[in-house]
Amino acid sequence: MVKVILDGVSKRFNGTSAVDKFNLEINDEEFMSILGPSGCGKTTLLRLIAGLEVPSNGDILIDGNSVLEVPIRERDIAMVFQRYSLYNHMTVYDNLAFPLKMRKVSEQDTKRRVKNAAELLGLDKLLDRKPGKLSGGEQQRVALGRAIVREPKVFLMDEPLTFLDPKLRTQMRVEIKTLQRRLGVTTIYVTHDQSEAMIMSDRIALLKNGVLQQVGTPDEIYEKPSNTFVAGFLGSPAINLLDCSYVEKGGKTFLDLEFFKLDITDQKDIMNKKRNGSELILGIRPEDISLAHEKSADTIESEVYVIEPLGSESNIIVKLPTYKAFKFGMHDVVNVKVNAGMNVKIGDKVRLKFNKHNIHIFKKSGEIIL
Ligand code: ATP
Repeated sequence: MVKVILDGVSKRFNGTSAVDKFNLEINDEEFMSILGPSGCGKTTLLRLIAGLEVPSNGDILIDGNSVLEVPIRERDIAMVFQRYSLYNHMTVYDNLAFPLKMRKVSEQDTKRRVKNAAELLGLDKLLDRKPGKLSGGEQQRVALGRAIVREPKVFLMDEPLTFLDPKLRTQMRVEIKTLQRRLGVTTIYVTHDQSEAMIMSDRIALLKNGVLQQVGTPDEIYEKPSNTFVAGFLGSPAINLLDCSYVEKGGKTFLDLEFFKLDITDQKDIMNKKRNGSELILGIRPEDISLAHEKSADTIESEVYVIEPLGSESNIIVKLPTYKAFKFGMHDVVNVKVNAGMNVKIGDKVRLKFNKHNIHIFKKSGEIIL
């Protein structure tokens, strides 16, 4: 059982907070991604776990024991970085064997471990080559191999796919995930790429300005975001966030978007703390808006502004009718995801239909209500 616990961990650099009162439990054999925008404290968290930084407050436990007093070498953690940092003058075999040599592992054991790692990573035919004669993907596999041969308790990975081309990146995501499953090593993976985190992780911890915003499975975070930041960070094209106000009239309940009143009478119970006029934010994902064929009271007349082909789907950016609240949206437009091949052109008048059973309602401050 290798569980990693971050218990109220904070890190300040010269008085500036990089990580603030961070609590997270990473379960045995779990693949946990630390996700967030640039500068939110992801690398600092990883460095704290590795022992490359000392927390200003809080505790870090591995396997039930605090590691704050345990030196880096003895933490039994292997790290993989953005840059592979291989030794160019050494063969692949020597690169893989190096961490073991440093730890005075016997030659026989080293051979066995290198052989196993090389087979696992498909490097067995490349053991005599030097890194300069390997592709980017092969070099990254050697970097992973160097972590694997150590047979550590925990893998820490800091954006290891950053410098690979998009195709290789997609391939390596699957390879790393499969490898991690097979080895069953608790893994903490830092990335700013939401799709990478969604595809690879058992759970994701999403950070903003050093503060944990939400932790959960990819589906949980996508479907039940805790605030507008989380909702906006996951999903591509991004969720539509629209200012609105709460209105009760004639026994019905609406979200008033100025250009349209969305009837949410059947969800009124959850909204019962609201009062007429409360300012809210409606979140609706591009796949929950459709283009309606028929004119009806629950559709919104609008105009196609931009079409972004995404392969099997397209993102249609649609201009809303007069709408003054531009604060959270991209202007006065919404993203609508449709199947490719839909016969629409820029400038076409279309009617939008919101799937109101899949909406999110946030307070003006950003916290989720529904
Ligand atoms: P990126 O995705 O760009 O790598 P990140 O989320 O990993 O960013 P960190 O590198 O952890 O973010 O940095 C978090 C904050 O702490 C940043 O504001 C950064 O400038 C600051 N910081 C990190 N290391 C140090 C340091 N050694 N001294 C001073 N400030 C630092």
